[in-house]
Amino acid sequence: MTALLEAEGLHVFYGGSQALFGVDLAVEDGQAVALMGRNGMGKTTSIHAICRMLPVRLGAVRFAGRDISSLPSFRAARLGIGLVPEGRRCFPNLTVTENLIAAARAGPWTLDRVQTFFPRLAERAGQYAATLSGGEQQMLAIGRALMTNPRLLVLDEATEGLAPVIRSEIWQAIRQLKAEGLSILLVDKTLAELLPLADACVILERGRSVWHGPPAAITAEIEQRWLGL
Ligand code: ATP
Repeated sequence: MTALLEAEGLHVFYGGSQALFGVDLAVEDGQAVALMGRNGMGKTTSIHAICRMLPVRLGAVRFAGRDISSLPSFRAARLGIGLVPEGRRCFPNLTVTENLIAAARAGPWTLDRVQTFFPRLAERAGQYAATLSGGEQQMLAIGRALMTNPRLLVLDEATEGLAPVIRSEIWQAIRQLKAEGLSILLVDKTLAELLPLADACVILERGRSVWHGPPAAITAEIEQRWLGL
């Protein structure tokens, strides 16, 4: 079976400085895959390469059976990769609803459905995104990605910097999306929430994928060596 997403041997540079030296990962249909590793090991860079926001110097990104390695990011989004970026990045001067509508593409996720999924986004519909709390902005960022009707949802640190109550609401939302069959690739530092959700994990060390397997196979030694726990 071909995976929905396959990254193979990704080499990525920032100008003259190399950040990825061979990242391999795959997300099967309906799977949640956790991309792990200590700070600065290349998680966000891998995500940006997959979402086509950074050029791939060597290696390939395949999505739904097609090589997307040189497509621009808007085409990758159109093919069904929905990114919830680190730091949320909603349009501050658009209202909540305008942010959602700006991303809309035909499919089962409509404005109504997103507002039912996150009732807070209905309550705050006319408010400028800049005036939302961090948790509400995170819901908006996820809602906006859902409005693109993605086949793969990519979440980069979606619970970072949020109060515990809001964080558990976001985790609950992610679990529900997974239960509905959405494929998910995610980075998060809260392993206690991340691991029970993940079907598979990929660990990065200095720009290379050095380990992959199911969460249950992560030993204390692996944690110490690559996750710094
Ligand atoms: P974190 O958990 O801290 O977000 P990360 O695993 O996501 O870390 P990346 O942000 O992908 O790591 O960084 C990987 C490497 O690329 C690091 O050495 C980092 O310094 C470098 N890097 C990241 N962004 C840039 C940039 N815009 N220009 C130059 N180097 C960068």
